[in-house]
Formats: sequence, structure tokens, C-alpha cells
Amino acid sequence: MEFYSKKIERVYEPDVLVCGLGPAGISAAVAAARMGALTMAVERCAFAGGNFTNAKVVGIIGAVNTITGALITGGITFEMLKRAAYRREDDYSRKPLCELFEENQDSVGQVYRPKTTQNHVRQVNSVRLLFDPEIFKHQADMLLTGSGVKLLYHTVIADTVMAEGHIKKVILANKDGLSCVKPKMVIDCTGDADISAMSGAPFEKADVVQPGTLMFTVGGLVFDDFQAFYDACRKAMAQAADCGEIGIYAGPSVGWVRPGMMNFNNTRLVFDATSAESVTEAEIRGREDVFRFFEVYKKYIGAFKDAYILDSGPYLGTRESRRIIGEYVLTLDDIVEGRRFDDAIALAGGIVDFHRLDKSGHSALQFVKPSDIPYRTLLPQKVDNLLVAGRCHSVTQMAAAVTRMGVTAMLMGEAAGRAAVLALNGGCTPSDVDVEQLRALLLKNEAILND
Ligand SMILES: Cc1cc2nc3c(=O)[nH]c(=O)nc-3n(C[C@H](O)[C@H](O)[C@H](O)COP(=O)(O)OP(=O)(O)OC[C@H]3O[C@@H](n4cnc5c(N)ncnc54)[C@H](O)[C@@H]3O)c2cc1C
Repeated sequence: MEFYSKKIERVYEPDVLVCGLGPAGISAAVAAARMGALTMAVERCAFAGGNFTNAKVVGIIGAVNTITGALITGGITFEMLKRAAYRREDDYSRKPLCELFEENQDSVGQVYRPKTTQNHVRQVNSVRLLFDPEIFKHQADMLLTGSGVKLLYHTVIADTVMAEGHIKKVILANKDGLSCVKPKMVIDCTGDADISAMSGAPFEKADVVQPGTLMFTVGGLVFDDFQAFYDACRKAMAQAADCGEIGIYAGPSVGWVRPGMMNFNNTRLVFDATSAESVTEAEIRGREDVFRFFEVYKKYIGAFKDAYILDSGPYLGTRESRRIIGEYVLTLDDIVEGRRFDDAIALAGGIVDFHRLDKSGHSALQFVKPSDIPYRTLLPQKVDNLLVAGRCHSVTQMAAAVTRMGVTAMLMGEAAGRAAVLALNGGCTPSDVDVEQLRALLLKNEAILND
């Protein structure tokens, strides 16, 4: 054991510190800042967006009820959808969502309505709302700075200093060296519950987590028939796996980026996102798989003749790591049985998307009605000035297969941001926030809490 001690010169004193600027962190920071709190947000990447941008996850699931087609996404999340989301047309061109809304005020559900809930391939094809990562980055910057959030990119949260279950200081590491933040309230949106773990809040991490994915984009593709191309890719993967050319893979699930350019959700990597050594090894293995899979496609499919790998990542996408054990742990039974909660602060979108480690090609998707996310799942135990939003909130492993979606994380973020400021204004802890007041505030800001 080594000890380190040094004076830290740079000190920040915001009301609210948002840790991590993935989908959850963006809306948490914007909500807190718009309520007048001095809000600071810290992100290790050079941009906001989390998996949407750093892992190039472009599909939007959970914005509408997959069974009824009704819109279940309001507030800041919907604002972000209007700024940065596209609808993919049948000819694979794209139309900005904001234009669609001008045409028909509440028709996003109809746009998205799945053709079937049985067949995964057709289902994925019917998921027609997309983010463009570059537009998302830019629009997130605009939304955050426009709301008055103090941003620090390129900054890792390295530690917390605790006193009797209270976060007194958060230690940052970046090009300035070490800095110290003395926040009144902290919102953990790191996806991996880093702050909760550093602060001694109980958490859970499954022995076998869902695999992650290094996404990659291929350019220079030439084909006329998307379905035939898609089928050929899946067949090539299955053949290559059968004869031992490749190891674990999925699908692929492919998404249109630009003409001749497709995004591949194809690699499956088992790693521990909370271990730097494990993630490093997985990134290397992921790039190896990207090139190996690409060679397989080139060997079997004419459309790849002049194709090239445009890029991967930039980061390995993590589906699952730590989840806090909060004041309530949401279960899959709660979701499947449609249990209602008095303290519901958001609706989850209705797809159970659990990725297994077999060669089934895809997760076993199950469609359920939109489900309540209770406020108590954002409240960790043992730390009195901390809220948690996004995929690391308090949920069982199987229930997280529903609530880990990007827009769902964003909806939780807004609730956490507003609750943090209500607690500050009321001089209480987040646990003692008046939930009816929180729900009323969310509804006033166009949240949708009933499907
Ligand atoms: C391959 C893949 C495909 C997916 N497909 C879809 C899909 O089609 N549709 C969908 O809706 N969802 C999809 N998801 C899920 C979804 O994108 C994520 O679960 C969602 O991004 C969760 O948001 P979050 O804000 O909770 O966490 P994250 O997106 O993980 O964001 C966490 C942020 O915190 C930052 N951070 C973490 N630790 C630190 C630290 N110590 N210091 C500073 N910053 C830190 C990270 O850099 C990141 O920006 C997919 C996920 C993956 C991995």
C-alpha cells in the first residue's frame, strides 16, 4: 500500500456536481442549471453523449412505447431528440425529427411503430429513430453551455473524500494535475457507479455481465438490396464461426450511416468496465475482432469488394457494470407485471434487451408495456448528498436490460437534476425530497409519466 499527499491548488465550489456526461449526465446537468443551481459537469471524454457518442450507439430505443407506438419521452430528453434525432426513411435517407414534428405534432409513435414484435430482424429494421454522433456532440455542447453548465471535458473523477456519509470533496485528474470540487450535491452519471463505489454506497456487479461491443463503421459498400446485404452478413458470420475462423460475435446488427457506409454492432467482448487492465485488454481484442470480421465479410460478400474500415469506437461500449443497491431495487417482475409506483419519475421504453454470451446473434428481445421507474432507484444508501441516474441506478441485472436504454437514462437524469436542486432549496437530503413536488415539477416541464 502506497500513500500520496499533496496540496491541491485548484478548487471548485458548485452547488451541484454532475459526474459523467452520458445521456443521463446531460439532462441532469441541464435540469439543475435551469433551476438556478451553480452546476458543474465533468466528463473523461472530449465530448458529451456517453455510449451515444463515445461508442457510436446510434439507435434510439425507448422513446416510444413499442407496443402502442405512443410517445413516452418528454422534457429535456425530448428536447435533445428534437435537436439531434433523425428518422430513417424507407430509402435509408434521413429526415430530422424536428421537421416531422412540424408536420404532425404528435406522430413520433406512428413513425416508430414496429411491424411485428416477434421477429427481431424486422423489429430492428423498424427502429427508425437515430442519432448522428457528431450532431449529438455539437447539440449537447449547445444545450449544456446554453443552460449555463460549467463544463470540464478531458477530466477523470479519481476519488471522493467522505465525512460521515457525506461527500465533502471530489478529486479530479486532468492536464491541470489534481483539482478538488466541494459540491453541495453530487449526481453519479458515470454509468459504472464510480462515485457511488468511491463513496462507500452499496452496489452490485454480476459475476457474468452482458458483453460490451466495439462498434465499427465500414465505408465503400456497394449493394442495392439492404435485406439481401443484411442476410449475407449474418450468413457469413455464421459460416465463419462454424469453421472456427472467428470466435464470439453477434448478428451483426447493421445501421445505415451514409450511402455506402454502415455501422456494425457485431463484436461481443467480455470485460470488467471498472478495471483499467480489463478494458485495455478488451479494446485490443475488439480491434482484432473488427479486422478479422471485416476480412470474413470481404471474403464472402461482393458488396465489400472495395470496402474499407472507416473507424471503430472511439471507445468500447459498455452495456453493464456496477448497479447501486438503492432505496428500492427495481425488478424485471415489476416491469413485466406493469407495477405502478407512487414515486415514478420516468417511463422505461418497453424492450427487454439482454445480451447473452452465446452465438444466438442477438439478445432475446421481449416487448413489454412502458414501466414506471421509481425515484427511490436513484437514491443510494449510506451517502446523503448523492443521487444516481442512468444505467447504474438501482435495478436487478435483468431489469437493467430494460432501463439501460439511452433515452431512459436521460429521463432519469432530468429527475435527478431537479431532485438535487429541490433538496438544496429545501435544506434536506435527496431522500427527503417531496416526491409529489418533484413529479409536479417534472410534469410542468413536459415530462410524460403516464403512457
Ligand atoms: C454497443 C451498445 C449498443 C447499444 N444500443 C442501444 C440502442 O440501440 N439504443 C439505446 O437506447 N441504447 C443502447 N445502448 C445502451 C445505452 O446507450 C446506454 O446504456 C446509455 O448510454 C446509458 O447512459 P448513461 O448516461 O447511464 O451511461 P453512459 O452512456 O455509459 O455514460 C457515462 C458517461 O460517464 C463518463 N464517465 C465514466 N466514468 C467516469 C469518470 N470516472 N470520470 C469522468 N467521466 C466518467 C463516460 O465517459 C460517459 O460519457 C447500447 C449500449 C451499447 C454499449
